[in-house]
Amino acid sequence: MAKHPAKCPKCGHRVDFDSAVGDHIVCAVCHARLRVPGKGKAHEVTRSPTLTGSPADADPLIGQTLGEFEIVELLGRGGMGAVYKARQASLGRFVAIKILPHSLAANQSFIERFSREARAAAAVSHPNIIEVHAVGQDRGYQYIAMEFVDGETLADVLRREGRLLPHRALAILKQVASALAEGHECGILHRDIKPSNILIDRKGRAKVADFGLAKHEGVDVSVTTTGQALGTPLYMPPEAARGEPFDARSDLYSLGATFYQAVAGKPPFEADTPAQLVVKHLEAKPPPLQSVAPDCPGDLCRIIHRLLRKKPDQRYASTDELLDALDKVETRMTVEQAAATASIATRPATARHSTHRREGVALPKRSTALIAGGIAAALLLVAIVLVVVLWPKGGRATKATVPPGTRTPTTQHRPPSPDAARLEANAAIVYKNIATCIAKKDYAKAQTWLDKLRREYASTEF
Ligand code: ADP
Ligand code: MG
Repeated sequence: MAKHPAKCPKCGHRVDFDSAVGDHIVCAVCHARLRVPGKGKAHEVTRSPTLTGSPADADPLIGQTLGEFEIVELLGRGGMGAVYKARQASLGRFVAIKILPHSLAANQSFIERFSREARAAAAVSHPNIIEVHAVGQDRGYQYIAMEFVDGETLADVLRREGRLLPHRALAILKQVASALAEGHECGILHRDIKPSNILIDRKGRAKVADFGLAKHEGVDVSVTTTGQALGTPLYMPPEAARGEPFDARSDLYSLGATFYQAVAGKPPFEADTPAQLVVKHLEAKPPPLQSVAPDCPGDLCRIIHRLLRKKPDQRYASTDELLDALDKVETRMTVEQAAATASIATRPATARHSTHRREGVALPKRSTALIAGGIAAALLLVAIVLVVVLWPKGGRATKATVPPGTRTPTTQHRPPSPDAARLEANAAIVYKNIATCIAKKDYAKAQTWLDKLRREYASTEF
């Protein structure tokens, strides 16, 4: 295929039309939508489409059928082609179909490696990983069909909302980390964790896209839907810049950079050129997260900074280790919220007292007792925090239902007597019930379970 290097008529940035699928491409700098030469004069058409939007003008691929997939609308464009929504009539469902540019589809060794990676990715099944349905070739188009996510990317969310509140960022981070843990366990690295590869469906569930579909040398890195050059190293681990091997800890660095941005509203490093950005990833310290996001709990900030350490062995040794740390932060945040709610619940009484205080009236004895009760309730919740956060992992119950995106904690086995073991197991269930009730904000029930734990299982580890 002839090379079509050209300049964007709007901003003058270089655009490589060979990476286009169909007859349009998006300028990486000004996001103008340009027509590929030979199919009309290069000119601005529209802004880049969103996940749910469709382009204003007709795309020649829309309405066509590739394999058994009828293309319905354009979802977005990246450095490795365009992604369309397509109908798979045989199964009565929609899929997302990524169509590679002709320049790549003609490269046999690339296609072989791409198909091999797609097969490997298809073997991974996890609620937070976008499933690969098929790879195929039709009329010169090379495509990969995958689970369609009705929602938006984390990049879209951040563009609209700026940043995420810490508890929402943590919920998504846990799901993405859980997806990575599964991939890593299957021996597959993601290699391109970034906000536009994290899709959030309408129920708020995170789904990781392009798992194991590595960026390849020689692949055009011109644009993404976000208008950002795919090669722009916003989330690139320093070892990749040094040309050193990429491993699971490298995915963790990109995860850290992605969630630094989610919490702070801006990536850890910014620069005018990709080269300056690479230097910052290699040498600079990211600004302390708590200085840019003061509402982010200290332990969550510390986790994200640890993910961003320059040396891989200073990050978490494994994704499972990261998940354990995230579990602890989540539990602590939940219980702290519970304690805050409990103290608010005692406020009507104290509020009444403050009126008395303003009027210079001494507090009645009953009111003092109510305040004492409130403080006792708050202290009790703090005790629960300590139990939940500080208790060793091996003592946790493992029988509870596991929601998508969470793992069952590892259980360490000690050799106690059968009776003692049964008692410990029952205590573990009671402990789990306390945590569940707190998570559901059913503090009265949590209190009942805690009383039971104290009464009947005082001799156990719990
Ligand atoms: P990038 O990841 O760089 O954004 P892609 O080519 O992988 O580039 O994807 C382009 C866009 O297509 C994404 O930003 C997203 O908006 C959309 N997209 C990708 N995969 C899916 C999917 N499985 N379901 C719905 N939309 C998708
Ligand atoms: Mg992608």
